[in-house]
Amino acid sequence: MLSVILPVYNEEDTIEHSAKRLEEVLNALDNEYEILFIDDGSKDKTWDNILKLSSTNKNIKGLSLSRNFGKERAIHAGLHKAVGDAVIIMDGDLQHPPEVIPKMVGLWKETGCDVVNGIKKGRGNEDFIFSFLVNGFYKIYRFATGMQLQGASDFKLLNRRVVDVYKLLNERDLFFRGLIPWLGFSQKNIEFEIAKREQGKTKWTGLSRYFLAVNAISSFSSLPLQLVTLMGIIFMFFAFFLFIQTMFVWLSGNAVAGFTTVILILLFIGSVLMISLGIIGQYLAKIYSEVKRRPIYLLKDTSGF
Ligand code: UDP
Ligand code: MG
Repeated sequence: MLSVILPVYNEEDTIEHSAKRLEEVLNALDNEYEILFIDDGSKDKTWDNILKLSSTNKNIKGLSLSRNFGKERAIHAGLHKAVGDAVIIMDGDLQHPPEVIPKMVGLWKETGCDVVNGIKKGRGNEDFIFSFLVNGFYKIYRFATGMQLQGASDFKLLNRRVVDVYKLLNERDLFFRGLIPWLGFSQKNIEFEIAKREQGKTKWTGLSRYFLAVNAISSFSSLPLQLVTLMGIIFMFFAFFLFIQTMFVWLSGNAVAGFTTVILILLFIGSVLMISLGIIGQYLAKIYSEVKRRPIYLLKDTSGF
């Protein structure tokens, strides 16, 4: 049996179409299947549409979270409820083309692997500056964590034992895309072309992408914290040479000039200190949210179970 998990947030226009296309693809496979929509606290008619579908179709099920918890946690909720021998996670807006599913399932059956990762071939039609930033992030990420995320997506097939292991993870800040490679087991990749969004619009803004990036790095690496120490050491050398120079100037009796330098150094050190505090704060915030041990998601309603 296959389970397909689709986290959706304010996708009232896409649900029906997504379900139809998925059914076409899944009916062609000789597997039983369930399609599991996770409504991530949508404010529009998303949940009504899921209810409508699941009341007429026994293969379609729905979970409704009590508020918007974010895609990662919606996926987590779905993995807790899915019963399939293999679980496929994909975007509810069909940007992950359903036509790739038979290939994923085929690869899983042929090789007996545990995970099939969907790898994005291109990045759609994103502009130059954006892809520059994204590529820069992947380089930093690789350096800090040793993990290659370039092209990685949330479009994945997991077999039962990986799903069960994933459910054991008890972190609040889940980074699905990074956690799956971290789990290990035998993983295979499959390339796909990211499709255009047909209805609705993306939920990502510049700022939320920034937070995702920060979370992604701090979830897997404490290197930024070491960098603070490193910066301190570099500054100490810098200070040492400046000390000698200052003493020299003072001893030779012309120590008045250099006001500009003082201001620049103050500003520079000020910003480094604030960034360092921010880095420490980020880890502190993560510790804070982990020790509170609040549930990862809360369910408001289910349908079709
Ligand atoms: N999504 C979600 N919760 C959120 C934001 C997004 O469940 O808080 C869902 C969204 O409905 C979609 C998927 O995650 O099915 C991917 O989101 P989106 O298409 O906005 O991202 P993009 O494809 O632009 O990266
Ligand atoms: Mg999308």
